Amino acid sequence: MNATRPSSTQKYKFADLLAGPAVRERWERVRKYFFLRESTYDMTSRCNIRCDGCYYYAGEKQFATDTGDPEAWRELMRQEKARGITFVVLAGAEPALVPGLLQVCYDEIPLGCIATNGVKRIDDSVGYKIHVSVWGSDATSLRVRKQKEMLEKQIGNYRGDNRAVFVYTFTRDNIDEAAPVIKQLSDNGCRVTFNMFSAPEGYEGTLVHTEETLAKTRSVMLDLLERYPGHVLFSPYSAVAHTHRLGLHGLYGCPYPRKNPSTDIGLGRSFRQYRSDLTWDRAAACCVPDTDCADCRHYAAGSAVVTSKLYRHATDPDTFKAWLDYVDTYLAVWVKGYEKGENLCRGIVEPPEG
Ligand code: SF4
Ligand code: SF4
Repeated sequence: MNATRPSSTQKYKFADLLAGPAVRERWERVRKYFFLRESTYDMTSRCNIRCDGCYYYAGEKQFATDTGDPEAWRELMRQEKARGITFVVLAGAEPALVPGLLQVCYDEIPLGCIATNGVKRIDDSVGYKIHVSVWGSDATSLRVRKQKEMLEKQIGNYRGDNRAVFVYTFTRDNIDEAAPVIKQLSDNGCRVTFNMFSAPEGYEGTLVHTEETLAKTRSVMLDLLERYPGHVLFSPYSAVAHTHRLGLHGLYGCPYPRKNPSTDIGLGRSFRQYRSDLTWDRAAACCVPDTDCADCRHYAAGSAVVTSKLYRHATDPDTFKAWLDYVDTYLAVWVKGYEKGENLCRGIVEPPEG
């Protein structure tokens, strides 16, 4: 978490924003995690399924030659630790296909998260958070991901596993399916957060949102958050930020190297996105490479884009509370052992201008 600097025109002093025990307590809780410095790693270019609109199989990274040698990964993790990386996001294609490499990473850097399709279970000895991607009902998964009974398989693998957070990705087509899917997850004691389909560059398929589906998604997210507060890890401001017509870069300015030329501070300095051959390219480095920045509303992007804008949100008590809720959600979704608090701001707050 890297914070941008305050503006001299702000009306409230920071101490005013911390008035009230609930806000102060939340601030003290979240600021303990400001040490997190992330980078992301494609563990393999193989996947056990093939989904329409997959950003991994767009662009160059899919053609990297996999490094299957655990000692090469161990050495990379040691180098990453030495340059200050404290949190790893292991993705791919499908990380569950290389369990030995996941174990090596966990043994070297114990804070992190794995993005998986959930079809193959990851062993308990890898104690990272596990994000299980859900793209709609089983009928939709069969159509878009060519998998039968996908949700049942995913729940079977991760029910009762406190590492797991299911990630429901809203596309233009599956908004009405969210309610029964979230009910099924909640009935099985699973926790879930929300993502937005963000088109890969050059994508011409049917999953891209329109202004109408963005508005409808926001309303469904808010409704599900009200109905399943114990199982949905989200906040009203998360819904606002991720369903805005401008997208995350347009709203806040993205700090990842791909959009940020600065090499002095924050993510522009520290973030790398390694391909499965252990190379990285600054010009392509962000958490969702090959995604079209103009359509980027991805939950992983927001975790850096919004959380890094502390001072932009330190304008008035409601906006600051909304930002705290966003960060609290991000930590509950991404960091092992962090439990989500009650949202402090229940109303709709518009993103402040930069
Ligand atoms: S499971 Fe993930 S990596 Fe595999 S094809 Fe689907 S979106 Fe791509
Ligand atoms: S795709 Fe998203 S996270 Fe990546 S550089 Fe563009 S705006 Fe940033």
